[in-house]
Amino acid sequence: MAGNFFRVQCGDCENEQVVFGKAASTVTCAVCGSTLATPTGGEADILGEVVETVEAR
Ligand SMILES: [Zn+2]
Repeated sequence: MAGNFFRVQCGDCENEQVVFGKAASTVTCAVCGSTLATPTGGEADILGEVVETVEAR
């Protein structure tokens, strides 16, 4: 499996952005800079609210 993308809503400003499920580096909100996901070596730890799972095709 190539890995999924998640549409994550920032808990601070409600911005939504797409985060790779296996992000290798910390993902921050493009609007307010809040951390949305942190790498764990496998699946990223998503800190925001996952609105939608987008499966890779
Ligand atoms: Zn934000």
